[in-house]
Amino acid sequence: MKLKDLKKDFKTKLAITYPNEEILSIFKFLCEKYLNISPTKLLLAGEELINKKQVDMFSKAIVRLLNEEPIQYILKTTSFYGLEFICTPSALIPRPETEELVDWIIKSETNEITILDIGTGTGCISVSLANHNGFVLDALDISSSALELAKQNAKKNKVNINFIEADILEYKSDKKYDLIVSNPPYVRNLEKKKMQNNVLHFEPELALFVEDDDPLVFYRAILKFAHNNLIDKGKIYFEINEYLYNDIKGLLIFFGYVNIELKKDSFGKFRFVKAAKYAKID
Ligand code: GLN
Repeated sequence: MKLKDLKKDFKTKLAITYPNEEILSIFKFLCEKYLNISPTKLLLAGEELINKKQVDMFSKAIVRLLNEEPIQYILKTTSFYGLEFICTPSALIPRPETEELVDWIIKSETNEITILDIGTGTGCISVSLANHNGFVLDALDISSSALELAKQNAKKNKVNINFIEADILEYKSDKKYDLIVSNPPYVRNLEKKKMQNNVLHFEPELALFVEDDDPLVFYRAILKFAHNNLIDKGKIYFEINEYLYNDIKGLLIFFGYVNIELKKDSFGKFRFVKAAKYAKID
């Protein structure tokens, strides 16, 4: 089979489920992974012969895509902040918004600091931060399979991170951090109806959802932990639910935080907050 025919077949089969632009972008990723054809070479391609085994790989991918499985799980990798991360259903797929959170920290924090990433998942936040000079990282998650994945990602990107398997709702430690960052579960069950099948059917619920009547449970637990484990004047950075920014701001004020700054993501939604721990005057 020729590459141009493979492409035609791919487009026809996926047309009921995906817009054309997305099909072409997925095709590009698959060509890179399965055929080793770079996106620039792909523009000129067409007459190359694709063998039976390769055609089979595309057919299997089509079945999974029609089932609305995320392309990142099919490819088993994604890129985040210029690095490559292994992706499995053990953790949330790294999102472009979260890259903006990492970027905010890297651009704002210039000193040598010790950072704790709570709910690390794939490790995308901690690995990208640890890739920067001067940042020393601990990363915590309740899920042992997520931590296994985060460890692989740290190794793949050649960074050192101290991993901690624990539930932040109960975790206690004597260690003091200069900065705590977290992208905890923050989607309320009531928001499920607005979500896409690729998220709902494939990504881990544990990493996404919180109860409608207590959506800030993890933020509260993190701020309680920070009471003893974040230095005075230490910083908190959170990714947040766009509908709950006022509640989160209120919680930070309640816990005595100052210099609270909300920030919108590139879609114009309040998605991040940073704040500093009030320095106690004894
Ligand atoms: N932003 C993610 C989503 O909408 C949720 C991330 C999270 O719960 N921390 O799918």
